[in-house]
Amino acid sequence: SKSAGRNCFTVYDEAMSAELVARNTLEGDLRDAIARCQLELHYQPFVDVIGGGCRGFEALVRWRHPSRGLIPPDQFIPLAEETGLIVPLGEWVLRRACADAATWPAELMVAVNLSPIQFKEAELFEVISAALRDSGLPPERLEIEITESVLLERGVENLAFMERLKSIGVELALDDFGTGYSSLSYLTAFPFDKIKIDKSFIRNLTHQPRSSAIISSIVTLARGLDMSVTAEGIETPEEFERLTALGVNFAQGYLLGRPQPVDRIEFGASVQPSR
Ligand code: C2E
Ligand code: CA
Ligand code: CA
Ligand code: CA
Repeated sequence: SKSAGRNCFTVYDEAMSAELVARNTLEGDLRDAIARCQLELHYQPFVDVIGGGCRGFEALVRWRHPSRGLIPPDQFIPLAEETGLIVPLGEWVLRRACADAATWPAELMVAVNLSPIQFKEAELFEVISAALRDSGLPPERLEIEITESVLLERGVENLAFMERLKSIGVELALDDFGTGYSSLSYLTAFPFDKIKIDKSFIRNLTHQPRSSAIISSIVTLARGLDMSVTAEGIETPEEFERLTALGVNFAQGYLLGRPQPVDRIEFGASVQPSR
């Protein structure tokens, strides 16, 4: 009936404004969080499968909210991207990660995730080079992780930007490979050092023979293009064994180490899976 319809509409409307209030609160909170240093980086190791041992750590941002506790990035990165707050947030992440890594043993890399929104900023190159300069971290020890969406939009500008990063020695990784509008032509057109196979492929590995076939062709392709391959999201010894046999270069996942605060990293500790 008409009145029921109106009721529905009212309820919907209230839900909408409640959501809007919550969103605005969160946005204000996030703005404060950046200003008040409530963000922290947790670091997850990645392991050199052939050489053995830890090759470096990926920086993963968390928000230590005063009342809501530790908030994972999936719950605030999209908001940060919509509001533009990803720009100061991303700059903080870069500076923090470079400063932390500069205190680590010199053979360890740090990998930093960049949002496609950050790529639209004209000063991104200066932000990265300032983070390197101020921390004293050699550019060769910084790896930038980007997703395919960056290659779709503004491909020409972004290619130039990536070439510029490469020219100072920064490494480039293509993250979440296989989840986007993957076209293999991206791999030849852009100067990646590394491809990170998305964890959804790893998850199916031990059940679906097709996943093995996909991973093995990615490895072959990467080798032909002189790129290395990381398998992420490895949770079981079976997955690790399988991926080693398939020839991936780097391994990452809960089996090898969970993301943890910087002061909890034990550099001497073995990150090989127990067999
Ligand atoms: P990502 O870059 O693909 O990072 C890998 C995610 O998988 C991380 O989630 C990590 O904790 C999780 N992970 C690692 N090993 C395993 C495993 O064995 N099993 C499972 N199920 N998960 C595993 P996290 O830390 O919640 O980050 C989620 C996403 O948020 C990241 O995905 C990345 O896209 C984004 N993100 C994180 N930090 C930053 C940042 O500083 N800047 C930007 N722009 N995005 C970030
Ligand atoms: Ca990543
Ligand atoms: Ca990923
Ligand atoms: Ca991701």
